[in-house]
Amino acid sequence: MKLPGDFHVHTCMRPVDDGAEEMTPAAVAAAMRSRSFGAFGLSPHFHFDSDFGAVCAFLDAAREETRGILPMFRGVETECIDAVGSLPLSPEQARRLDYVIAAPDHYNCTGVVRPPKDRRGCLLFHQKLLIALAENPLVDVISHPWAALILLTCEGHLPGYDRIESLDAVPETWIAEFAAAARENRTAVEINGFFTGTYLRRRGETGRSYGEAYRNFYRILAAAGVMLSPGSDAHRLADLAQIDDASGWLEALNLPEAQIWRPRKRA
Ligand SMILES: [Zn+2]
Ligand SMILES: [Zn+2]
Repeated sequence: MKLPGDFHVHTCMRPVDDGAEEMTPAAVAAAMRSRSFGAFGLSPHFHFDSDFGAVCAFLDAAREETRGILPMFRGVETECIDAVGSLPLSPEQARRLDYVIAAPDHYNCTGVVRPPKDRRGCLLFHQKLLIALAENPLVDVISHPWAALILLTCEGHLPGYDRIESLDAVPETWIAEFAAAARENRTAVEINGFFTGTYLRRRGETGRSYGEAYRNFYRILAAAGVMLSPGSDAHRLADLAQIDDASGWLEALNLPEAQIWRPRKRA
């Protein structure tokens, strides 16, 4: 399957982003070209206290620098600053970018509101947040839905929280409700290369139920007509290969091309 590109990629930009030093725009562009992509995107983290002007300047310069290598789209990966899916970006700022990836579950980041600690409250909070993001007109793609929450609670990054091991904990009716909101608002949902490969392998045996429930989640989204977007979430050049796990999951879903997200240039 020919992917339109990889649009969830971190960079060497400081102090905002946390990709490795080697994640320069030119090095990423060359790596993307050698993977035969027709385009790619850079998506530095954008936090509540990030300097938007500096991020734009970095992305604009990156596009100039990579012009002769491969077409580049300018994005960010940002998080929610409250329980109703608000982003630390204004509509004017979002319009300056080519796309916005919203992370529902960067709960360990400063400035991000946290869900309740008990399992039931946490799941419900997260479900409402996902729907709010699907309905937020500034959001193009929702990154790693549920998966980072699972990692954070299972690996001790959210002290005092009940462990959420897998999407088995999420009723299918909730997934259907999220799918309907994403389809209606034409908000894409990411298939994240780290969480469909690297993290799954790290979980070993206990990853089986996580993997199976996560695949079922994407089957429900695909059947509901939701656009999906495979992304590597690379922080090092070697991580760019994570797109292969994501695209393997995508391939198994047999989606029509119109259901594979690509950035549409904003006016
Ligand atoms: Zn993320
Ligand atoms: Zn990321």
